[in-house]
Amino acid sequence: MNNKSLKNIQINNRQYIVPERPIVVICIDGCDPDYLNAALKVNCIPTIKHFINDGTYRIAHSVIPSFTNPNNMSIATGEPPLVHGICGNYLLDPENGEEVMMNDVKFLRAPTIFKKFQEINKKIAIVTAKDKLRSLLGAELKIGANHARCFSSEKADQANLIDNGITDVEGWLGLDVPDVYSAELSEFVFASGLKLMEDWQPDIMYLTTTDYVQHKYSPEDKKALEFYKMIDDYISEINEYEVTIVITADHGMKPKHKIGGEPEVIFIQDYLDDWLGNSKAKVILPITDPYVVHHGALGSYATIYFENSNDINISRDKLFKLPEIEEVFTKQEAVERFKLPSDRIGDLVIISIEKMTIGKTATYHNLEALKEPLRSHGGLSEQLVPFIINKPYELPSAPYLYNYDAFYYACAASEKH
Ligand code: ZN
Ligand code: ZN
Repeated sequence: MNNKSLKNIQINNRQYIVPERPIVVICIDGCDPDYLNAALKVNCIPTIKHFINDGTYRIAHSVIPSFTNPNNMSIATGEPPLVHGICGNYLLDPENGEEVMMNDVKFLRAPTIFKKFQEINKKIAIVTAKDKLRSLLGAELKIGANHARCFSSEKADQANLIDNGITDVEGWLGLDVPDVYSAELSEFVFASGLKLMEDWQPDIMYLTTTDYVQHKYSPEDKKALEFYKMIDDYISEINEYEVTIVITADHGMKPKHKIGGEPEVIFIQDYLDDWLGNSKAKVILPITDPYVVHHGALGSYATIYFENSNDINISRDKLFKLPEIEEVFTKQEAVERFKLPSDRIGDLVIISIEKMTIGKTATYHNLEALKEPLRSHGGLSEQLVPFIINKPYELPSAPYLYNYDAFYYACAASEKH
């Protein structure tokens, strides 16, 4: 088949323009627009500033819950969780009632943009900071040095030709695998992206970082500004190639602690046990993942399963009255408003106010592990994310623009010279 003549490709529910030149989508994990504003103020991100002034800058929405995996998979499929199925890092598996991580490819219900472009012979490169996303992002890809490269910074030392399409990443980059809790884990993503452009010329590249820095430092902090300067330096070099770049984020980030530094948290399971009796309701926190040091499994979103359906309305009314809780949705309301898969959320979905997080019980969370005043995400207050293109393009803004439109508009904008 001569793919040169192919102008459009159907991916899930949309027609994408087949780009003639490489496209690079960058997801800066936890990049609240406040981080860019702070960095712009001290003038440490000249390349991004140039894109903002002479290219395109909008504020977009992330999907809710404003967590990493649902948003990364939305970006990777161009669709909301209702279509691709990934609505948290963690879920109560409806098949067996067990609480499990949602990292497994079996949970993914839609093909990725990467897979569809590979079918028309595009070269695919995916680099993720944390390995937890790698198998989902690389789902059904034909991996190999001529087809696709897909690896994580975290496990770059274990990368091999069969699983990742690349080996000896450390030698290739001249960098050691960084600590999983570090800014360098994200730097490794950008260094890999740049090297891939130099050595391998992918047609479609996705780079996705970790929000370690944003959980730890506020936008004005010197460490955060240094991090954004590092990102800008790499983007400037990637921009030297004839590429269309879209920069967005999986979610924002907000402080959720008291003045003294203790986390702001409401333990909802304790309330429910008190109202209904022990274990009549079960709180699931889909932020839960194995990397809890920076957020203690505390975010601003939770879903609740009830043993007796009568308890749903009783609890709904009581939850509404809690000042810490901003929104309470029934399953149906949550499905409609946030386009979530109904079989993977509980009977109620609750979202806390901006400065608050939702916990299970006071004894469940290891708050000792939190080293810094808590900053986290998950709610509506972290839904706004930047959406930047390195060239001018007519775009809507939120609520009509989502981070998961990134590849769609990267393809569209790549037509414009
Ligand atoms: Zn994230
Ligand atoms: Zn996070």
